[in-house]
Amino acid sequence: MPELPEVEITRRGIAPALRRRTITAVTVREPRLRWRIPAGLAGTLLGARVRAVRRRAKYLLLECDRGTLIVHLGMSGSLRVVAATEPPGPHDHFDLAVGDRLLRLRDPRRFGAVLWHAGDPARHPLLAGLGVEPLSPAFTGARLHAATRGRRAAIKHTLMDHKLVVGIGNIYANEALFRARIHPRAPAGRLSLARCERLVEAVRSTLRDALAAGGSTLRDFVHSDGAPGYFQQRYDVYDREGAPCRICALPVRRIAQGQRSTWYCPGCQPR
Ligand SMILES: [Zn+2]
Repeated sequence: MPELPEVEITRRGIAPALRRRTITAVTVREPRLRWRIPAGLAGTLLGARVRAVRRRAKYLLLECDRGTLIVHLGMSGSLRVVAATEPPGPHDHFDLAVGDRLLRLRDPRRFGAVLWHAGDPARHPLLAGLGVEPLSPAFTGARLHAATRGRRAAIKHTLMDHKLVVGIGNIYANEALFRARIHPRAPAGRLSLARCERLVEAVRSTLRDALAAGGSTLRDFVHSDGAPGYFQQRYDVYDREGAPCRICALPVRRIAQGQRSTWYCPGCQPR
């Protein structure tokens, strides 16, 4: 599943081809994504100019003259810029043409979304209730500390609560807790300010490292060949059950939290 770093790398990959360009054609081959692609979308977008390509949480926002195209990659989606002559594959459901190039959405499992919002995108129902961006200066240890007072939920659940902070999926929650040396089941409300500060810094460094790893795959977004643009990284605990911790060599443990697996090191992240 594309996580926040993949979405941000996608944004950086597609933005140069779209910015200040006029949309000359819209092709919807399969409107039945997570939500139906709006029927009148081609009419709305034809002739519109893309002013900027932004990101909010895992939503890509193509800001046009009269509104914003909101794109979500869902479970399996990817966006690439390809030549207009590139024939579509079976899962290429949506194209935007800008000159002689296409922005193409491929989404085998069709959990992605392509939506239009005429007003301020921050007020769209999908975006209105979202918490702070983890890489923004607004995400601080003090903020996390204040927001978690009285919370008995495990810190891992709390980190993945998008009303508090967006874009931290299972991979980065596990990795950040390991870096901060905090047990994933620790009650969020009991974390000291110092540990909240350490955790915020761990979240940032984990995401920044992922962005750096993904930067080398940028070319996948502007060429028609190659992988969809997700990238492989070296994880410390994620999906490493039984493997030795890279710091203390104790075997990494896997536990279930809610519906998800959690990996942690019992030596580095004591209760
Ligand atoms: Zn360890």
